Amino acid sequence: MSPEPLPTTLDVRKAAARGSVVSGAVELAKLLRLREALASGEGIITARCAFGRDEESRALVTVTVSAELTVACQRCLQPMPLAIESENTLAIVGSDEMAKQLPASLDPWVVAEEQGDLWDLVEDELILEIPVVAYCDTDACKQLLDAYRQPPETPETDGDNPFKVLEQLKPGATQQEN
Ligand SMILES: [Zn+2]
Repeated sequence: MSPEPLPTTLDVRKAAARGSVVSGAVELAKLLRLREALASGEGIITARCAFGRDEESRALVTVTVSAELTVACQRCLQPMPLAIESENTLAIVGSDEMAKQLPASLDPWVVAEEQGDLWDLVEDELILEIPVVAYCDTDACKQLLDAYRQPPETPETDGDNPFKVLEQLKPGATQQEN
């Protein structure tokens, strides 16, 4: 059974004043920017947005996102599952100018209109959570890594190596090559 969809938009300042909490599923197919970073359009995303105010009366939203996505492994290029669990609290501000006045500990969510786009917010959070480089954990993929790491033809022993490095650091050592 899939959960009810998360509302796409909400009057976010009213929600903050009321302390509203909304939650539900977000359709991956509608998140076009996120979709570009994925290896498959299959996936499950659920999110919870809890609105409120801090002691300075700033409107806040704590967004909790849980997702099962598929990305391409950067080593073997095979699709691999990626589970994301994230939670972030953002201050709802009306402009970039107001965003700049926030303490560094608070990320801004700029909502110029009355309605905030919750799906957009969830998409932003997910894009931030996707690792730039993801490797899968299968044996086949790890063997691929070993193949890259073929030992050199004349491997140096542990005792030999530091001595040779010192030799090259000596002044005049390069003269031998002339
Ligand atoms: Zn891989």
